[in-house]
Amino acid sequence: MSARRGHIFVLSAPSGAGKSSLIDRAVREVPGIWHSVSATTRPPRHYEKEGVHYFFLNPDEFHARIKRNGFLEWAEVFGDHYGTPADAVDRRLEAGEDVIMDLDVQGALQVKRRRPDATLVFIMPPSLEELASRLRKRGAETEDRILRRLARAEEEMAQRSLYDHVIVNEDLDAAYRELAAIINGHRGKAGGGA
Ligand code: 5GP
Repeated sequence: MSARRGHIFVLSAPSGAGKSSLIDRAVREVPGIWHSVSATTRPPRHYEKEGVHYFFLNPDEFHARIKRNGFLEWAEVFGDHYGTPADAVDRRLEAGEDVIMDLDVQGALQVKRRRPDATLVFIMPPSLEELASRLRKRGAETEDRILRRLARAEEEMAQRSLYDHVIVNEDLDAAYRELAAIINGHRGKAGGGA
């Protein structure tokens, strides 16, 4: 068989650690990588578009999808549900495309259990102080929600040893080069063994 099945890369990070910028750049610059679009029950932020940032579902639609096994993984985060539609991911993998996913720690570990060859990458902010200042500058949320995100960030960062790679995002360019090296390194291996 010459056809190569795609590979899954899961990125997790506290929000504000720069994960979205890294994923956007990987999708722009690395050929043949697709960013999986998750479903969520949380309301859209003002800049978010349906089908681009998320598929925005109501709780009934989300639960119906869980029931018919429509998610590769799903999790509850801050009282809202988030999940990865399984069919779109499988189509891309079968077509030989790599898939990059932005998941919380619970979701990343579910993917690893179901697809043990997936590569998990944790993005760390330089410090919690820096993370707090990035979240406040973004101005997208109330102080109460920012404090909840910071508490959760600490909990998630404590689990980074369960990941295959940890990147500290002090400088976006340097962090991107590390991510690109992980992706390309994996492709090199896959190419050699196929
Ligand atoms: P936000 O509301 O800031 O977009 O995302 C909140 C958290 O949900 C982030 O940690 C993000 O990585 C995570 N998340 C986004 N999509 C999914 C998904 O499909 N599954 C899981 N498990 N987590 C997700």
